Amino acid sequence: MKVLFLDRDGVINIDHGHVSRIEDFVFIDGIFELCKYYISKNYKVIVVTNQTGIGLNLYTLDDFLKVNNYMLEEFKKHGVDILDVFYCPHDPNSNCECRKPKPKMFFDAKDKYNIDLENSIMVGDKITDAIAAYNAGIKNIYLINNDEELDFNVLRVKTLLEVIK
Ligand SMILES: [Mg+2]
Ligand SMILES: [Zn+2]
Repeated sequence: MKVLFLDRDGVINIDHGHVSRIEDFVFIDGIFELCKYYISKNYKVIVVTNQTGIGLNLYTLDDFLKVNNYMLEEFKKHGVDILDVFYCPHDPNSNCECRKPKPKMFFDAKDKYNIDLENSIMVGDKITDAIAAYNAGIKNIYLINNDEELDFNVLRVKTLLEVIK
């Protein structure tokens, strides 16, 4: 199975910082088209997201799950089935195993679904997204609106539609 992996905040929805309410969840232009394109190419779509706000007690796991259900329902309305959502609920100082830039969430997805990581795609907006994906062995990594330096190659894009090739 090949997968289009998506970060959440800054890729699926506008990153206002710790988005935890449905009314603050605004889909980014092109996200449904992007997913539908890759689904038509036999990719599955999986979300891989750090939800630091839970660990920092800015919002609860339940808040996150409510927003997550809303997101999944909206995707469905637009003809997009999201296969799964992997999230890290820990705070940055906990040194957990799952928080990006660590690759564990990608490996957990691979273990669960037998994913061909090398031929999968990651779309992120932070270099930690790119580093996590790179360390998971993903070869096709896109960063949206990010010029920060990395010591490996990623594809820089300004819009989600540029990820469709
Ligand atoms: Mg992000
Ligand atoms: Zn974690």
